[in-house]
Amino acid sequence: MTNIAKAQPKLYVMDNGRMRMDKNWMIAMHNPATIANPNAPTEFIEFPIYTVLIDHPEGKILFDTSCNPDSMGAQGRWGEATQSMFPWTASEECYLHNRLEQLKVRPEDIKFVIASHLHLDHAGCLEMFTNATIIVHEDEFSGALQTYARNQTEGAYIWGDIDAWIKNNLNWRTIKRDEDNIVLAEGIKILNFGSGHAWGMLGLHVQLPEKGGIILASDAVYSAESYGPPIKPPGIIYDSLGFVRSVEKIKRIAKETNSEVWFGHDSEQFKRFRKSTEGYYE
Ligand SMILES: [Zn+2]
Repeated sequence: MTNIAKAQPKLYVMDNGRMRMDKNWMIAMHNPATIANPNAPTEFIEFPIYTVLIDHPEGKILFDTSCNPDSMGAQGRWGEATQSMFPWTASEECYLHNRLEQLKVRPEDIKFVIASHLHLDHAGCLEMFTNATIIVHEDEFSGALQTYARNQTEGAYIWGDIDAWIKNNLNWRTIKRDEDNIVLAEGIKILNFGSGHAWGMLGLHVQLPEKGGIILASDAVYSAESYGPPIKPPGIIYDSLGFVRSVEKIKRIAKETNSEVWFGHDSEQFKRFRKSTEGYYE
């Protein structure tokens, strides 16, 4: 009998900088005005942008692609209003291609890229992954392409990013509305959250031999405060009922599979993650 040690997947958390925005975008109506407090303030909050690389024996898998390095500034791809409402700050080491290079991974080495959705802070670097299969929800793909066709220059879908995806001839696989639990590799499953925060949200369930189960929820759940109880919807929302349904689904899967839920933009949770510069999860 041969006894060959089986290759284990390694999961890396890559820090791609910080974004700021009005707290109401993250937790809608978090501080409503009252008779006693008619000018209740809002807050400009800061939160992390991160991506996850799974170095799997069956192929490398990337979950989300953060922002494009050419987003900000006078010549940036983001419109002026978008830049002032959602400013992104990142040192060069935080750019996705540099984070990958630090791990000695080239964009062409990636087999699958999962786009949780196509907002500016998740799909900004899709254009680099010309060798990969890009996996996205069909409704998200259709919606984003509509913003492109209509030449929308402000908002969460970036015309210049979409233009680069099209020019680079990416290989898209769209997840249909009724598809779910799609196995990508051993221990890795795509979760279809449907509409909610955006037109079509995808997550990933990762089962690691040592660490155990992780649900990459992305912006289906922004933060621990969104997760509740009570569940708190964001100000950026397409389908409020779908949002609640997807959070309840995530809670159910987390319980059934004894998994941690990794939120899209939770500062406190992010601080506790082991970053790609420090090591990995296995
Ligand atoms: Zn986001």
